[in-house]
Amino acid sequence: SYLKQTLETFGSIALSRKILQAVEAMGFEEPSPIQARTIPLALEGHDVIGQAQTGTGKTAAFGIPVVEMVKGKEHGIQALVLTPTRELAIQTAEELNKIGRFKHVRTLPVYGGQSVDRQIRALKRGVHIVVSTPGRLLDHIHRGTIDLQRVRTLVLDEADEMLDMGFIDDIEHILSNIPEQRQTLLFSATMPEPIEKLSHRYMEHPERVTITRENLTVPSIEQVYYETRQKFEGLCRVLDVEETGKLIIFCRTKRAVDDLTAALDARGYSSGGLHGDLSQIQRDRVMKRFREGRIDILIATDVAARGIDIDDITHVINFDIPQDHESYVHRIGRTGRAGRKGMAITFIEPREYRQLRLIMKLAHTRIQRRELPTASDILE
Ligand code: ADP
Ligand code: MG
Repeated sequence: SYLKQTLETFGSIALSRKILQAVEAMGFEEPSPIQARTIPLALEGHDVIGQAQTGTGKTAAFGIPVVEMVKGKEHGIQALVLTPTRELAIQTAEELNKIGRFKHVRTLPVYGGQSVDRQIRALKRGVHIVVSTPGRLLDHIHRGTIDLQRVRTLVLDEADEMLDMGFIDDIEHILSNIPEQRQTLLFSATMPEPIEKLSHRYMEHPERVTITRENLTVPSIEQVYYETRQKFEGLCRVLDVEETGKLIIFCRTKRAVDDLTAALDARGYSSGGLHGDLSQIQRDRVMKRFREGRIDILIATDVAARGIDIDDITHVINFDIPQDHESYVHRIGRTGRAGRKGMAITFIEPREYRQLRLIMKLAHTRIQRRELPTASDILE
């Protein structure tokens, strides 16, 4: 697995005893490649751009050095992490709190949807690190309820997703509100042009660490495609013969998510749909049922699937072919996480083969053709 391929140990990185203890308690035996290369650079004070696909441990890649660099006796917020979604803000703060457990470093998630007053009270109690979504942070900046003048380290996490979600202006606004004398760390699965530009403008001589497929053994993701004019029948056959655990099916539109959820339901498969028209409460409910294994199929649009972080997804199914190779890489990165095996299945109609070939080319990946199981395969 990708975690096994580095020869470095956490102990060979200059980390304090309390951080090493916490990392061990989290069950991390060795640093992943992005961690092995970015943690030392960040600890030396460099600005760092870390690029590696989803599931490669980018959170700890900045979380470990950021927590390590917190000065326990100093007051005020010392590090600020910007992240695209509320779910990611919560998860990331949780991971940072685990890393800072023995050092007693406090991290607070700040996100839209939670009471502002509650957040103000929590901020007043004193925290070392804040993990926030851009919108809610701006809200606090405008109200004057957050003091960012002591921030020494800024992290832009999942920068490409923040861009996709339209947060670029908010981020620039936030950047102009924190001290210029600071360290900036930027993590992203992809580096589209606007993110490159942002890094030129707001980072100083950044060190760049890119973990590509070539130097990453992670993809224990098997990639296959089926070409058929009857995708729904094909999907049902695949669901019947594949040994699946939790799986995510991607559709292009909200409407398609609803239609497929209903169609699978009618065939007796237990699935839940996730898209932007659902309320936060409805989305949380579907996610909870999926996490707990009460449904094993999650059907989602690309946007709705952002920020989903579940380790034990065995299959990603592209019921509709992704728009482009970046979306493909994002989608399939939901499986094969934390060194587990995963499988990515793409359904295409004959006329979509050219698009699939383009995806393979641009994503530098091979997707193998498979024939659909026949009725007799299912009976066996
Ligand atoms: P990314 O941000 O790159 O998508 P995450 O930071 O969310 O990835 O990490 C993916 C999963 O891998 C998480 O469950 C995390 O706890 C786990 N993980 C990260 N680093 C290690 C490590 N060194 N050893 C074992 N598991 C790890
Ligand atoms: Mg991440």
